[in-house]
Amino acid sequence: MKVLIIGGGGREHCLAWKISKSDEVDKVFAAPGNPGMGGIAQCIDMGISGNDFKGLAHIAEAEDIDMIVVGPEAPLVAGITDYMSGRGLITFGPAREAAMLEGSKAFTKRLCNKYGISTARAEVFRSAEYDRARQYIKSQSQFPLVVKADGLAAGKGVLIAEDMDEALKALDECMIDRAFGDAGSTVMVEEFLTGYEMSILCLSDGKKIIPMELAQDYKRIFDGDQGKNTGGMGSYSPVPMVSEKIYNKALEDIIYPTGEALQRENIDYRGVLYAGILVSRDEPYLLEYNCRFGDPETQAVLPRLKDDLAPILYECARGSLSIDSLSWDERKCICVIAASKGYPETSSKGDLISGLEDVKDMDDIVVFHAGTRSQGGDIATNGGRVLGVTALGDDFKETRKKAYDAMENIKFEGMQYRKDIAEKAEED
Ligand code: AMP
Repeated sequence: MKVLIIGGGGREHCLAWKISKSDEVDKVFAAPGNPGMGGIAQCIDMGISGNDFKGLAHIAEAEDIDMIVVGPEAPLVAGITDYMSGRGLITFGPAREAAMLEGSKAFTKRLCNKYGISTARAEVFRSAEYDRARQYIKSQSQFPLVVKADGLAAGKGVLIAEDMDEALKALDECMIDRAFGDAGSTVMVEEFLTGYEMSILCLSDGKKIIPMELAQDYKRIFDGDQGKNTGGMGSYSPVPMVSEKIYNKALEDIIYPTGEALQRENIDYRGVLYAGILVSRDEPYLLEYNCRFGDPETQAVLPRLKDDLAPILYECARGSLSIDSLSWDERKCICVIAASKGYPETSSKGDLISGLEDVKDMDDIVVFHAGTRSQGGDIATNGGRVLGVTALGDDFKETRKKAYDAMENIKFEGMQYRKDIAEKAEED
């Protein structure tokens, strides 16, 4: 089988790494891919964006691709799977209607409320209802309050307002200033929940849903969850703080009812269903659904997967999963992300990266590239999150040491990474 992966971040590098191990896969292509994929995938970087469906279909047809695996959410929400399927190209990732679970928070909230799926309480307002939204916010007495842009906003559309003024400002940012364009023309105002978060990534073929092992990610730039939100500074799996009871409750109260709800709505969901869940006083609540693998959760989950991923994705895409569960390596996995100078406010590009050769052959270590580029025979930063060091080990203490020892070899100007990834797992 020949597989084409769409995207070029750490998640896609990890997918290419895992898929390339399959006995059933002859060749992996990635568009655009990244320099870290050399040796496992042929990168096709012709300046074709993930939203250029026609250009990508040309590549798939020219290379005789058997399966396209879509990494990021934007092309899925824009309907890449529908387009490719229309051209007879088997594509892993939900069709446009199904990807609405990530594409519209209001859609998901309605589904949750209709089918009794456990989620945070919220009200939804369309742009024509701006005045009503203001009145609603003014009537609230509990703060913080969460104001969310309905559509895709590159992870920036969730505003946590500490008081009424901030909440009204957040509403204006979405509806009046249109900071998130059309994505913010509908706004959701949600109760603020306190607790801890977890990510459950599941595979679905439209009929059954198979959960993967739990992961937790770190959104803030600095240790101790300080500073600005980022695309994710690290992750680990499994998550010892989550008891079997809570995990099963999340499946029973959120994941499985969502599968049933989608079927009852005649929505054929084939792909990754990724639930962002907050556990508050031992009750799991859905915060959001994503319609693709998470980044950087994928880099901590897939290295633990024992099964051959490629045929599983293929079966999902065809709507005929033959397995009922996945098998997992008992070891722990940690991914520590190194970001470029100034991230997330600014993004430095072109800083040379050293030490990659030193970690290449280390046991139980894989470096997944994200924001890197080739620069005259060297590898340099290309902004944002630059790379992730993933380590496997028997316990979290050992795994953390391996990851951080490896990271110390890698250097670039202004490099920043958190030192506390999976620290809390070590304590559990
Ligand atoms: P979302 O994109 O909806 O997952 O939101 C991004 C992040 O905002 C989440 O990972 C949470 O940390 C935070 N968040 C979102 N909704 C809530 C909420 N209702 N209560 C508390 N925190 C929230």
